[in-house]
Amino acid sequence: MLTPANRIFTNLQGQQDWRMKEAKARGDWDNTKKLLQKGPENIIQEITTSGLRGRGGAGFPTGKKWSFMPKVEEGRPHYLIINADESEPGTCKDRDLLRYEPHKLIEGSLLAGMAVGAHVGYIYIRGEFHRETEILEAAIAEAYKAGYLGKNACKSGVDFDLYVHRGAGAYICGEETALIESLEGRKGMPRLKPPFPANIGLYGCPTIINNVETLAAVPTILRRGGAWFASLGTPGNAGTKIFCLSGHVNTPCVVEEEMGIPLKELIEAHGGGIRGGWKKLQAVIPGGSSVPLIPKDICETVRMDFTSLCDVKSALGTGGVIVMDTSTDIVRAIARLSKFYMIESCGQCTPCREGTGWMWRMLTRLAEGIGTPHDIDQLESVTHAIEGHTICALGEAAAWPIQGLIRHFRGEMEGRL
Ligand code: SF4
Repeated sequence: MLTPANRIFTNLQGQQDWRMKEAKARGDWDNTKKLLQKGPENIIQEITTSGLRGRGGAGFPTGKKWSFMPKVEEGRPHYLIINADESEPGTCKDRDLLRYEPHKLIEGSLLAGMAVGAHVGYIYIRGEFHRETEILEAAIAEAYKAGYLGKNACKSGVDFDLYVHRGAGAYICGEETALIESLEGRKGMPRLKPPFPANIGLYGCPTIINNVETLAAVPTILRRGGAWFASLGTPGNAGTKIFCLSGHVNTPCVVEEEMGIPLKELIEAHGGGIRGGWKKLQAVIPGGSSVPLIPKDICETVRMDFTSLCDVKSALGTGGVIVMDTSTDIVRAIARLSKFYMIESCGQCTPCREGTGWMWRMLTRLAEGIGTPHDIDQLESVTHAIEGHTICALGEAAAWPIQGLIRHFRGEMEGRL
């Protein structure tokens, strides 16, 4: 378990005030000038050493991502985008960072911006986050007033401006190229890749996009050293991670823990155990609604990191842990998630536009006991026809939960036909 000394987000539950004065007392903005003066190469090297992987869901190594940025050329500015469009069902970690630790994010954005050669950063915040936007804008104003942002930020010679842009509440705008489209004033529709944003991103210029949690961890990693962060967690899964526990636990919460903590320990220690006891557990969706569920027997032993969850054919995703006890109609629950993906599909590619609706209708019928075992096979084959055949990962996000359901609960599905 994570010791208090290794905790990065010490105000995650909002025990203290988010404002600059209290944030500084917690260690934020402590000699940021010295960190900036390390220079881009050293900062990227330190983040690479730390083994920090993106916390938005994909888990791409952050240092490697930053190193993809080309050299700064005249007339082709670099941009940093902070993805605060957190919309994955079961996930509310970035929301709490925006509410209670905004200065960690702002400081991390400045440091990341300097490392990738960007003089401007845009925080793309989910439209529904009204209060969080107010807090973030007030925290940015405090940082400007203190001379930590803008021209000669922190008296380091670095110029960096930070803007907040509110989305309109579309899930797909969390996908990085859809986010760029939306930021440029168009409909939030994902772009075909390549080219990747590091080469052609916002306004056709090199752009790095990072999740809120990823950037908020950066100042502490640079202060304590990449080796410290790498010493936490399991091989290939360094550091700490924020988990969101929801569903049938006794005390739903958002908590920072060490990567690789056993799921059972996470639920017992922070979620207060399963409602009615562990024997009542049916299944857990471990990484936000787009990852396959895992049944009780796997939940007994699995660890919460990228590698361990991949080994059991699921994923760490955003760290949104949705717990379902035996009172849950598991087929109906996954059918409801299917409806979400159908509604949020941007409709650009046929397998996703048509397939998400088809899967939802089919699963809803199966949940009501209408159909034959052959329909289950057909449903599974449609998930494979969608997976890997779409422009963005929403296709997989819609297909994987159904695959997980059929893998582990086929007997339950057949039993009600
Ligand atoms: Fe749009 Fe779905 Fe295609 Fe993504 S996979 S681009 S959401 S239609």
